[in-house]
Amino acid sequence: MTQLYTCVTQQHDLRLVVIAALICALGSYSTFAMGRQVFRSRAWQERLTWAVTGVIGTSSAIWATHFIAMLAFEPGMATGFAIGQTGASLVIAVLLVGLGAGLVVVRPSMSGRIAGGGVIGLAISAMHYTGMGAYDVQGTLHWDRATVALSVVVGVTLGSLSMLLAFSPRAAVRHLAPLVLLIAVCGTHFLGMSAVTIIFDPRVEIPGGSMDTTVLSILTANVALLIVGLSLAALRLWRVNRLRHEAESQRLRDLADIAVEGLMICDGDTIAGINHSLERVLGLPRQALLGAPLQQLLPGLSVADIPMNQEMDAVLRDSADQAVPVRVIAQSIVIKAKPHTVVAVRDQRERLRAEAEMHRLAHQDALTGLANRRQFNEALTARFASRRSEESTFALLILDLDRFKAVNDTLGHGMGDALLQRVSQRLLRAVRGDDLVARLGGDEFAILKAGGIDLAGIQAVAERVIDILARPFLIDGHILNIGTSIGIAVAPGDGQSPEQVMGNADLALYGAKEDGRGRYRMFEESMNARIQARRALELDLRRAISRQEFTLVYQPQLSARSGAYDGAEALIRWHHPERGMVSPVDFIPLAEETGLIGPLGEWVLRTACTDALAWPEHLTVAVNLSPVQFRDVRLAATIRGILAETGFPGSRLEVEITEGSLLQDEQRTLAILRELRALGIRISMDDFGTGYSSLSYLRRFPFDKIKIDQSFVRQTPDDKDSAAIVRAITMLGASLGMKTTAEGVETDAQSQFIAGEGCDQLQGYLISRPIPADRIAALFSAAPLTLTA
Ligand code: C2E
Ligand code: CA
Ligand code: CA
Repeated sequence: MTQLYTCVTQQHDLRLVVIAALICALGSYSTFAMGRQVFRSRAWQERLTWAVTGVIGTSSAIWATHFIAMLAFEPGMATGFAIGQTGASLVIAVLLVGLGAGLVVVRPSMSGRIAGGGVIGLAISAMHYTGMGAYDVQGTLHWDRATVALSVVVGVTLGSLSMLLAFSPRAAVRHLAPLVLLIAVCGTHFLGMSAVTIIFDPRVEIPGGSMDTTVLSILTANVALLIVGLSLAALRLWRVNRLRHEAESQRLRDLADIAVEGLMICDGDTIAGINHSLERVLGLPRQALLGAPLQQLLPGLSVADIPMNQEMDAVLRDSADQAVPVRVIAQSIVIKAKPHTVVAVRDQRERLRAEAEMHRLAHQDALTGLANRRQFNEALTARFASRRSEESTFALLILDLDRFKAVNDTLGHGMGDALLQRVSQRLLRAVRGDDLVARLGGDEFAILKAGGIDLAGIQAVAERVIDILARPFLIDGHILNIGTSIGIAVAPGDGQSPEQVMGNADLALYGAKEDGRGRYRMFEESMNARIQARRALELDLRRAISRQEFTLVYQPQLSARSGAYDGAEALIRWHHPERGMVSPVDFIPLAEETGLIGPLGEWVLRTACTDALAWPEHLTVAVNLSPVQFRDVRLAATIRGILAETGFPGSRLEVEITEGSLLQDEQRTLAILRELRALGIRISMDDFGTGYSSLSYLRRFPFDKIKIDQSFVRQTPDDKDSAAIVRAITMLGASLGMKTTAEGVETDAQSQFIAGEGCDQLQGYLISRPIPADRIAALFSAAPLTLTA
């Protein structure tokens, strides 16, 4: 080391040494700049051009460094340079550097780089010692072999090292390569110089053709200029390249940033870039993520896991460590001659939200926000499936609002909707949080009670619901009184399938309504049987008219004052081929429900008018009209047709209606009644005293007759209240100019009391049971029956 130090500092002109080092540095720098171009270029001509330029530059730099350093060498005696060998040293440098560079280019693997770099290192030594051969000096040269060997080893080793560094993935390391090559060149030269000792020998003569230092100076200056030129070219190249790269990167970034999708560029599993979109999704600036591992954003995923041409689901972690559902897809891309992967990240939250919203809309009742029928059915099916495994019970309550239709019809749909909303709010208050409340449609609701409940619990809920809905609703200044009927079925007892449980709850609801509304009924097996019987009956009823299974019987009505017959009420009978006599109490409601009451009612009217034609002319026939018949606006026209057809005078016909006809659509009913009145038909209010028995009905329509219901008549004269009611109705009739008829008179006592109260007519078993047409005709033809007055 000291030898090297004294060699450089004492035997050399330091100014020239510095120039040599500078030229070497420039050359070294341009070497690698050109080399990089070789790898970057695509076309082979281009690569070759860069390679040749690079080789010439590098070998020239080594050569020039050597000879400038030789000019700096001051042995203190006459010197010169043999032209041939000086030239040969340059040729050797060019050839060996070319060989080394070729190795690196052809095989850029680790071993190729080490070998190529080594050959370039060897080129330095070879050039140096050939160059020393060109050195003519007035003395003899003595070589220290060990130092010579060391200089060769240093050159070769550092040459290899520089090539290794040149390919490092890290820019900072790559920048060390030219420096190492510089040290290799200078190190080899000066070690080589310190290995030589020159002994002055006046006998030695400088050969005649030898160049003197001036010529060499001009030569090396030119070569140095070439190197500076090449270096400047390399610098420009570097700048142009860098600008192009920056522009390219910027364009890539801009492109990525306008993408709606989140994009990240990965170098292996390291994040090398992300776009604006992804920054937004993550809530993090890109600087915070550059260099981070992919796993930080996509836990458990590496680039290799992401498919190239198929999206896959993944979970992204955002800045708040929240899981963001995403879909990812990868695409490989070359950036700065290196393969990278672009990972596209599609945020799925909006889509999932939309899907959830669609699901909600499909499963929710739009008006009340309750579950709709679809969701309810799904829940019921699910409950059924889980019930199998747990063997626990659950209850299904089906609700039907009472009197809701009246609100909807009279106050409008807006009010109906508001009422349904309020009903659903109350329902939610009446049940537990884990019970499912649904609106099945119209005014029908359902409650699915959570499992594990006892009978008392179910009934308590039903009672609570009935109670809460029976309380008046105050909406827009209207007080609305509705109520609800509830049918209950319990699984697994009341059905083996959701449909069965549902159907049985429906049967129970039907039973509750039959019981008189505002009640609940638990499903019972007998309901099923009854329904079946009803269905059979309905079928029979449809056939009964054509099979002529109906007849009319007549119950005479007697004038209380004269004791003479006033007429008779027609009452229908059904002679069922198997069941025998079926009571109208059993089949009239069924006929009303099924709409068969229409043709049936027409048959009754036609038959009654025909039969009554045979009676003495002053006698009337009374026919019962069902409320359902009043729903048909053609009712009056139908009756007019029957009168015309049978030739029976309207003045001899009475129709008996109940308040049910006035309850449904009063205006329509009253209009029909006026039309009937215009035909001379008399109108009776039947069953007066039962139901609402609103006196206002009597004021709104001038009935011809009020029929006092048999339930009061039967209690007279003993029951004070009934007697008072009979008296009041009779007086009311008298004051309104309406006749009164007492129905169901069975005893003399009743007859006497009622006649005594001023009632106009008597009807009941005491006078006669309902009898067939031929017998009533015979009865009317015989002498008038007189009551004991
Ligand atoms: P309603 O109009 O009140 O008829 C009187 C019912 O009382 C008749 O029963 C009659 O047989 C019964 N009755 C009469 N006197 C007495 C008595 O002294 N004691 C007792 N316990 N009962 C007596 P029926 O014939 O079974 O009719 C029942 C109901 O069926 C009728 O009640 C009426 O509402 C309906 N109905 C009968 N025939 C027809 C019809 O042709 N058309 C319509 N729409 N309904 C009818
Ligand atoms: Ca009647
Ligand atoms: Ca009656």
